[in-house]
Amino acid sequence: MKPSTPTLESLSTIHADGSRKFVHPADVHGPFTFWRRASSLILLAIYIALPWIPVNGFPAVFLDVQERRFHFFGLTLATQDLWVGFFLIAGLAFSLFFVASLFGRVWCGWTCPYTVFLEHIYRRIERLIDGDGAARRRLEDAPWTAAKITKRVVKHGIFILVSAIIAHIFISYFVSIKGLYAMMHSSPQGHMLAFGVMLFLTGALYFSFSWFREQFCIILCPYGRLQSALTDDNTINISYEKGRGEPRGKAGSTTGDCIDCRRCVQVCPTGIDIRNGLQLECIGCAACVDACDDIMTKVGRPKGLIRYDSHVGMHGGKTHFIRPRTIFYSCVVLVGAIAFGIATTRIEPLRASVVRMVGSQYYVSDGVVRNQFLVRVINKRNATSTYKLELTGDVPPDMSVTGNEQVLKLPPMGEEQKTIVLSMPEKAFTGPSKLKIKVTDTERGDTMTTRVMEFLGPDPRLKSNAPLDPKNFVQ
Ligand code: SF4
Ligand code: SF4
Repeated sequence: MKPSTPTLESLSTIHADGSRKFVHPADVHGPFTFWRRASSLILLAIYIALPWIPVNGFPAVFLDVQERRFHFFGLTLATQDLWVGFFLIAGLAFSLFFVASLFGRVWCGWTCPYTVFLEHIYRRIERLIDGDGAARRRLEDAPWTAAKITKRVVKHGIFILVSAIIAHIFISYFVSIKGLYAMMHSSPQGHMLAFGVMLFLTGALYFSFSWFREQFCIILCPYGRLQSALTDDNTINISYEKGRGEPRGKAGSTTGDCIDCRRCVQVCPTGIDIRNGLQLECIGCAACVDACDDIMTKVGRPKGLIRYDSHVGMHGGKTHFIRPRTIFYSCVVLVGAIAFGIATTRIEPLRASVVRMVGSQYYVSDGVVRNQFLVRVINKRNATSTYKLELTGDVPPDMSVTGNEQVLKLPPMGEEQKTIVLSMPEKAFTGPSKLKIKVTDTERGDTMTTRVMEFLGPDPRLKSNAPLDPKNFVQ
């Protein structure tokens, strides 16, 4: 099928009748392509390596959903600490806004995982099996011969395998490499949820990268849709210098620098013609820059007919990087980073809570009033810790406590519940007492005090003719 000419009035990936038009970008070489490939390899290496690199005894990034512990490069967050993540996520979102306001969709073209997987894994496999862009287009139009069927089976088989590998690596972020290995060596019945997630992810990745492809960036991705709100005339985008290129045509004294070779269109992974101006479909991959620079070199004209530049720069002006929106975004990023830094220092290394045991609020037997509480201690450090429990607060002199005699030794991220029984003679009970449990790490000195627990007993007014004292009422 002959490639059509992209216009601003149509989607480059959909035929006039609404059917799918596959884009088969031609190969391109040049400095941007080289650095894009190099950075993608680094990003892929990071994605594969992170679950393998131990930091403080845990994988560098380990979202341990089962234990509700989240490890990030040595920082461990319990579910109670996830509020810290708000600053991190908000900071990262505004970082993207900041980058977009300076350099447009540079994130999309260079670092977005979707682009990295599509352009540097799946399209490379396709290139290896089906050939270059022209060969792929011919194969698409060719009848279903044995050779075409074989190629399709091999290609899609590898796509499914690669999707499964990416899905497994993704799952290892949640179960660790050790956990993943154990799962892979046991029946799926023992871990149906993880198995189901793996199947779903494999299917979703296979569908996205074998069929849906660039349509995700064009139709679905919200970040792409936000571009027009994030960028302005000073934002650096991939642009075609119309004044220099037009009128396009065969090289001659009456034409501009564009020789209308359409190389920039052929290499575009979203199938657009950047000479029509900046479009929503452009992911800023710079393939057209390399392609056009190559052509310019061949025809002996200066490079840069298509280049990274702002609208202002393209019209001879000076691009301003310091603008109200970049100042605003950088301030928000800074505030987010500072808030995240402060928040991480406020994460407690232990957690202690207390609840009254279910059942009666208090028990009276043999003239003794008893209250039972359940104390829960969580060691949030990545090291074994030993804790002692002490009763503090408004402790009456006749009160005794049992259950706190032995120290608690908790493994890293371990937690334990202990029953504490408070008792005092009934005749000494004059009303509720407000008490707390203080938990102290015996080695490091970290302390945490639980919220108030109330020692309750029978209403003392029922035992004497003493005048009523409202503060003694059991609430
Ligand atoms: S690659 Fe350059 S010269 Fe060729 S059509 Fe595109 S802009 Fe014109
Ligand atoms: S127009 Fe150029 S930079 Fe934009 S997606 Fe196409 S090839 Fe990439």
